[in-house]
Amino acid sequence: DGEDKWIELIDDSNYMDLSAKEMKDRIAEAGVCGMGGAGFPTHVKLSPPEGKAIDTIILNGVECEPYLTADYRIMLEQAEDIIAGLKILMKIVDAKNGVVGIEANKPDAIKLFKNLVKKDKNIKVVGLHLKYPQGAEKQLIYAATKRKVPNKGGLPMDVNVVVQNVGTAIAVYEAVRFKKPLVDRVITVSGRIVKDPKNIKARIGSYYSDLLEFCGGTTEDIGKVISGGPMMGFAIPSLETPMTKGSSGLLLFDKKEAHKEQEDVCLRCGRCVDICPMNLVPSLIAHHVRNDDWDSAEKFGVMDCMKCGSCAYVCPSHIKLIQWIDIGKIKVSEKNRAN
Ligand code: SF4
Ligand code: SF4
Repeated sequence: DGEDKWIELIDDSNYMDLSAKEMKDRIAEAGVCGMGGAGFPTHVKLSPPEGKAIDTIILNGVECEPYLTADYRIMLEQAEDIIAGLKILMKIVDAKNGVVGIEANKPDAIKLFKNLVKKDKNIKVVGLHLKYPQGAEKQLIYAATKRKVPNKGGLPMDVNVVVQNVGTAIAVYEAVRFKKPLVDRVITVSGRIVKDPKNIKARIGSYYSDLLEFCGGTTEDIGKVISGGPMMGFAIPSLETPMTKGSSGLLLFDKKEAHKEQEDVCLRCGRCVDICPMNLVPSLIAHHVRNDDWDSAEKFGVMDCMKCGSCAYVCPSHIKLIQWIDIGKIKVSEKNRAN
């Protein structure tokens, strides 16, 4: 209707007495989705197919990409809401265990959460090594539970786990208790050239240009704008772009930082192989994609790549491995849909 008016919120203090279905309905009505970036509808993630029991909910408080601090901020300011959200999530899937994973370089957050769950014997707070990409689902599940999600399309539910971002847990709590729709989120606006970098609670749909203006603009000409983090985010052509529910960051780089090195030939140095957390051979996948050999790209695990960006970051020849892998993922999906 174009009107900028709040619906009437409730305060259902007995929300934990709701059935799992009633809770899930409120989450769906509120439009809650994964706020770590994937944007997958939360009520769907909480509806595993028959035969897939979930015994553990892991909350992802591992914000491992440089620059981003939005999740850290909400962990310090809304820890109680996050734990309330975790308990709702556990009730919905009947999970016996809850885990909050936080990187070890956030000792204040770890201490805060440990204090909060002192009496909850089924919830543990795990301090995790500082390592990129510790926040990726498969890495987090292994670090927190020692369970390995199978490659070749395996999902967390295959090892009886559902992972949710800490921001999603807040949205779940607010949806179930207050029937609050997901209309805002905290986003990090950062970069060396941003005058006053900060975390902002902004409405979904706000233009990035407005967020930057709120941070005082930039001190130098902008060379590159990234939505998300520097490793897994993506460049956008214009600041007149609205933020979404999955927008964790807005990064501004100057022209020098944005400069792209010329791509060179592969040196067979193996650095991309050594660093890949999924044990893939990125150089070979890129080679097969370049040659339109989708079967081989699939055989070498293109669909298992989580696009962490580590291989491209270490490549001395500046090969655009992620772009090749992106193309490979699209082509393999098309091929499999056609078959
Ligand atoms: S982006 Fe590169 S390093 Fe990361 S999972 Fe994919 S192939 Fe491996
Ligand atoms: S890091 Fe780059 S140069 Fe080295 S093997 Fe991988 S793609 Fe080739």
